[in-house]
Amino acid sequence: MSGIYRKRGHPRLVIDLFKLKNNINKVQNRCRDCGVEIAGVIKGCTGLIPCVEQFAKAGCRWIASSRLEQLARVRNSGIQTDLMMIRVPGLSEAEDVVRICDYSLNSELVVLEELNRQAREQDKLHKVILMADIGDLREGFWDKEEMLRVAMMVEKDMKNLELAGVGTNVGCYGSVVATSEKLQELVDIAEDIENHIGRELEIISGGATTSLMRVWDGDLPERINMLRVGEGILLARDLKEYFGYDMDELFSDVFTLRAEVIEVKDKPSHPVGEIGIDAFGHQMEYEDRGIRRRALLALGKVDFGGSIDELLPRMDGIEILGASSDHTILDIQDLVDRGGDLKVGDVVEFDLNYATMVYLTNSDNIEKAYI
Ligand SMILES: *Cc1c(COP(=O)(O)O)cnc(C)c1O
Repeated sequence: MSGIYRKRGHPRLVIDLFKLKNNINKVQNRCRDCGVEIAGVIKGCTGLIPCVEQFAKAGCRWIASSRLEQLARVRNSGIQTDLMMIRVPGLSEAEDVVRICDYSLNSELVVLEELNRQAREQDKLHKVILMADIGDLREGFWDKEEMLRVAMMVEKDMKNLELAGVGTNVGCYGSVVATSEKLQELVDIAEDIENHIGRELEIISGGATTSLMRVWDGDLPERINMLRVGEGILLARDLKEYFGYDMDELFSDVFTLRAEVIEVKDKPSHPVGEIGIDAFGHQMEYEDRGIRRRALLALGKVDFGGSIDELLPRMDGIEILGASSDHTILDIQDLVDRGGDLKVGDVVEFDLNYATMVYLTNSDNIEKAYI
């Protein structure tokens, strides 16, 4: 039986579904209190089905992703919740968007025409939300006359599309803050369109996790009735760390990365020899702090994607010094000075941020364990 290999369990990503469920319910309840339904955005955890099931069980009205392959997997898993494609689809994706998704966000007339054609061929009514760019400068109509014109065309001429509403996105590229005044601009756009089509829109979608601030503060413009929330549920870090919000009712440790110690030794802190470039071609600076205890982990940039700043050791006294493709180097001298230590075979735990969550959930090298 040579050549057969079964992974022994590390590195491993432990996902606490109870904590995830708590976060979904808490955010959903807060939103419902202000008349807002959430679309659970699953791209941050690569649409892992056990996670998506929690969104579905909690009664989210939509499950949303920027990636069609994730939404297809959700559909094939038997989850019945309406699916929403939240990256404006490309022309080549139109057929699959109509086949897999109930809703999509859109900003281009040619794509809407193609969606309409595909929906006619598949004998479906596909719901679209038109995106307004109100300053963040990623997706969406900048020219609001153009947006109105396209809305009228969808409403009047595209029989297999339903104009479900309008939406916007802030705080992604342009770092624009989701203030109440900013989001009111979206409501004004919606009402202008409503005046022209002579009916109310089903959906006014006021952004992502950063718009949750308005829910917490109770000053979300009244007519906004949908938010698309990923980070604020999966990690629940950004609003606390970047905006100072009290998010204590949410768990920010749904995800735990566990990695195995494969070497522990006292070594100099400054490399010994002529200093050139590191494994990635970078010129590095090394501080000489004398001899210090180091631990080496069987985990590398291949697994977590590149930046050691994005891994957050749970235990005090551990500092990440660096990483190459398959190794991560820890300075554990502070831990030793406090009477602690690590030995070969121990497991070190980390919290994640958004980027490491994306990489680790996406990686086949990482075993996923659900508790
Ligand atoms: C990723 C994304 C979201 C969710 O963002 P979070 O910050 O994770 O809540 C919402 N809308 C769109 C269009 C997105 O691409």
